[in-house]
Amino acid sequence: MWNYPHRFAVIVIGGGHAGCEAAHASAKMGCSTLLLTINLDTIGKLSCNPSIGGTAKGHLVREIDALGGIMGKVADKTSIHSRLLNGSKGPAVRSPRSQQDKALYQLTMKETLEDLENLTIQQGSVESLIISNDQVVGVTTDLGIAYEADCVIIAAGTFMRGLMHIGTKESSGGRSGEKASFGLSKCLTNLGFKLGRLKTGTPPRISKMHVDFSLMEEQKTEEHVYFSFDAPSAPLEKRSCFITYTSKETKCLVEKHLHLSPMYCGKIAAKGPRYCPSIEDKMVRFHEKERHQIFVEPEGLHTSELYINGISTSLPIWVQHEMLKTIPGLEKSQIMRPAYAIEYDFALSGQIFSSLETKLISHLFFAGQINGTTGYEEAAAQGLIAGINAALKAQNKPPFLIERWEGYIGVMIDDLISTELFEPYRMFTSRAEHRLLLRQDNADLRLREKAFSLGNLLSEEQKKRLREKKTILANTKKHLAKTFVAVEGKTLSLEQLLRRPENTYQTLLNHYPEKLEDHGKNINEDIEYDAKYFGYIARQEQEIARLRDLQNVPIPRGFSFSSVTGLRKEALEALNTFSPENLQTASRIAGVTYADISILLIHLKKNGSL
Ligand code: FAD
Repeated sequence: MWNYPHRFAVIVIGGGHAGCEAAHASAKMGCSTLLLTINLDTIGKLSCNPSIGGTAKGHLVREIDALGGIMGKVADKTSIHSRLLNGSKGPAVRSPRSQQDKALYQLTMKETLEDLENLTIQQGSVESLIISNDQVVGVTTDLGIAYEADCVIIAAGTFMRGLMHIGTKESSGGRSGEKASFGLSKCLTNLGFKLGRLKTGTPPRISKMHVDFSLMEEQKTEEHVYFSFDAPSAPLEKRSCFITYTSKETKCLVEKHLHLSPMYCGKIAAKGPRYCPSIEDKMVRFHEKERHQIFVEPEGLHTSELYINGISTSLPIWVQHEMLKTIPGLEKSQIMRPAYAIEYDFALSGQIFSSLETKLISHLFFAGQINGTTGYEEAAAQGLIAGINAALKAQNKPPFLIERWEGYIGVMIDDLISTELFEPYRMFTSRAEHRLLLRQDNADLRLREKAFSLGNLLSEEQKKRLREKKTILANTKKHLAKTFVAVEGKTLSLEQLLRRPENTYQTLLNHYPEKLEDHGKNINEDIEYDAKYFGYIARQEQEIARLRDLQNVPIPRGFSFSSVTGLRKEALEALNTFSPENLQTASRIAGVTYADISILLIHLKKNGSL
């Protein structure tokens, strides 16, 4: 073993979406950081769909950007098609989504990281962790190099004992064409971590030659949809997506060959994401449905590869060929990369704190797919929080936490630490109780100020712009309340008018241009939503105050729940599994009732823990 001559503050294992954000955050916060990844050419690789964002996932990217992360900026720079999803629905569920030039996304991400001070990037596969007194102090790689560090973040994605399936063919790998990682799983199990298996899958990529786009519906890009709150980057040339559908023949074919699908012939036991079902699952679970929608998405400006969104499968390759022949527009298409499913190890829930540090080994953090999530955005958001907290830990500072009521990132982490996962976790707007407060348009107002304390994660310019925006909002709200106009024989304030469902800030601006200022789409919308949903927002704020009270009751580390008399057996088991850090998290654990929380509260008060 060769000891690497430099000691790092933070080592990040894995250059996927979690790893990139973690390495960026840690380095920006002034920590000497090492990013170790199996293959430098796959940094930031979009393993599955060539797109970022979408419902709730777009919220996560906006929050990452608000906190100084990079996913949104790289996605904006490399976008070839973008849309604001749910544009006709309420503001809480509107979310940006962008189609990426896949190769350019990777290159831009790599270049962004390479330009960072404090960040060393090296190719290497981590085999094992070096532990001393229940604390991680470094890692070793397959090349026999030992690196020392104050903190280590594992962001190994789908690579831990990854096993790929195409029909009855199995092969080991972390993703198509890349080797799996075995050492890490073994090392974590030996340390006492409990690992489980999950599964995910991807559709075939086909060549656009021989595709008949005239049989499909074209979906054009929308203008001015961005993830980043900062200056928009120069746009790339745009491409359209296309919509087609499966047919009766597709259904017959898939049903006839179900016995060849590893999921249905018993070869894959692990659970996949319910909300990204394979075509086999769709045909079985939604048997009555005549057809299923398929999006045909470009993979980039300089490739003819198309991603066939909606037919993820692990059926044999010849069935995949036959299946394409049954889909209008794709009858003559040719597969460039086959669809496949992958099983991989993840850490069962209950083993991390809300800082993403593990409970078993101090200074060790988990981020991304290893925590049971699926999706680039979920991974990147955790990477950012793990990177920030590893840097803070290395600097002997308290952790940085986002609460459930502050952001989707807080909702996700709170769910991960208080819920048993039976399938890969993905973000939905329905998971957030305070949706009207946690809109994608106001992520900067909710979170940016909070990140100002984190060293150089945000620039002076970004701070200045946020403060200016806040001033505009406060002044405009005051102005709306005290500016009156005559409407239908009554005198009403502009604020009252804006609360009417038929009015938007833009319509008021059109009617009273001399009384209102145009602050640009983003600020105009913030003003409008805050006025329109005033009543709901006030109610959500009351509910948050109640949650805050519970949040403020900490449960000491290592607390013995068995010493509390009166707790029901079910609650005791659940509390022991998740060892919550405070009463708010405890109250969210399945099996723990409000009566149990009252008993805990009385006990903590009586025993001087408060
Ligand atoms: P990854 O992006 O997987 O990155 C892991 C990184 O860790 C890689 O760079 C790898 O080289 C590196 N690494 C691993 N082990 C080591 C080691 N020992 N030493 C050094 N480096 C290491 N998500 C969805 O939301 N919907 C889907 O339908 C979907 N389908 C998918 C289908 C497939 C086939 C795959 C592979 C993934 C799919 N995903 C899907 C998941 C999505 O790709 C992941 O959620 C996301 O990429 C996770 O990000 P991550 O950073 O945790 O890991």
